[in-house]
Amino acid sequence: MAEILLLRTAIFFSFYIIGAYATTDILRLLKGSTSPVGSSGCYCPVCGCRIALKDQIPIISYILGKGECRSCHSRIPASDLFLEIFLFAALSIIAAATSFSWFGFVFCIAFYELVKAAFILINGAREKDFLRNLFVSLLNNIGIFAITGILFFINYIV
Ligand SMILES: [Zn+2]
Repeated sequence: MAEILLLRTAIFFSFYIIGAYATTDILRLLKGSTSPVGSSGCYCPVCGCRIALKDQIPIISYILGKGECRSCHSRIPASDLFLEIFLFAALSIIAAATSFSWFGFVFCIAFYELVKAAFILINGAREKDFLRNLFVSLLNNIGIFAITGILFFINYIV
């Protein structure tokens, strides 16, 4: 029982990470973006200063920093926070509603890719190197969902 609880907490935590990751994945495929998909370097889009790792804690950093860049105090787009919370909540609900089944896992991946497609359709694709970044994005998604997949697998066998 304790293992199951721990495992499911780990699965939820992996969704929290995926939600945060999406801001360097999905948002960088959109119109106006120039940063390469998946690179961990985060820069303020206004002053260009590097955002410290301690200010990159998903959701929490945004709230503590009041949604502002620490150096120039310009507002960080709320789409970052929205995407983090939305994906974390949606994937968690899907997994719980499907009793952490394999179907639920596949549904989570499909949902993530659908959200990506919807964002691109609504906002437009980035002008520079879109296809290359899309390819990197899909490759990275395999890696990041593999971690969640391992947790689902352990959950399945215990
Ligand atoms: Zn700034």
